[in-house]
Amino acid sequence: MFIVFRCSCGRHLYALKDAKTRTCPCGKRTLLSRVKVLAQAENADAAGEIVRTLQLEGHGMTGFRPAGL
Ligand SMILES: [Zn+2]
Repeated sequence: MFIVFRCSCGRHLYALKDAKTRTCPCGKRTLLSRVKVLAQAENADAAGEIVRTLQLEGHGMTGFRPAGL
């Protein structure tokens, strides 16, 4: 199982649920036990797809939202 979360820099990332930390491209290492999990996925492909969708929306504090502007 993979989890999807957001780094404090605003990037969305995914990581194996069993992992302890995930290092963002911004250089910040995030403790997975402290993150707010935005979504879960069965595999890396699905997790990557969720991340892409969240990135496109630019926010994602509460998960999926229509771009209502
Ligand atoms: Zn980051």
